[in-house]
Amino acid sequence: MGEKEIYGGLVRLHVLHHASREPIFGQGIMDELARHGYRLSPGTMYPILHGLERGGYLRSSVEKAGRRSRRTYVMTAAGRKALRQAKKRVWELFTELFEEELSRSPQVEPSRRGKSMAKREQGQ
Ligand SMILES: [Zn+2]
Repeated sequence: MGEKEIYGGLVRLHVLHHASREPIFGQGIMDELARHGYRLSPGTMYPILHGLERGGYLRSSVEKAGRRSRRTYVMTAAGRKALRQAKKRVWELFTELFEEELSRSPQVEPSRRGKSMAKREQGQ
């Protein structure tokens, strides 16, 4: 078990997050992930994209970009739903991982965090 396994879920959530904002493509998302410190080779990235498409979270099509063509991925309704549910879990994990730091910070008290989260979900 290595970093790949530990960060695999985070990378997938990152991909889903960006796909929820705009269509994505392999190199673009690799650059974005590198910005966050995840250095993935195409041999790692493409199977992740293909897997997300196979799972029904993304849908791809081939788009012409000048003389070359590239495969772009858009998020499906199932992908949106999965991301929404995953965000709840990430939030829960985040508050647990940073329990001490959050309790030390006077600006973010637990009751207010809970409320704003609930409000955002009602809005969706
Ligand atoms: Zn990002």
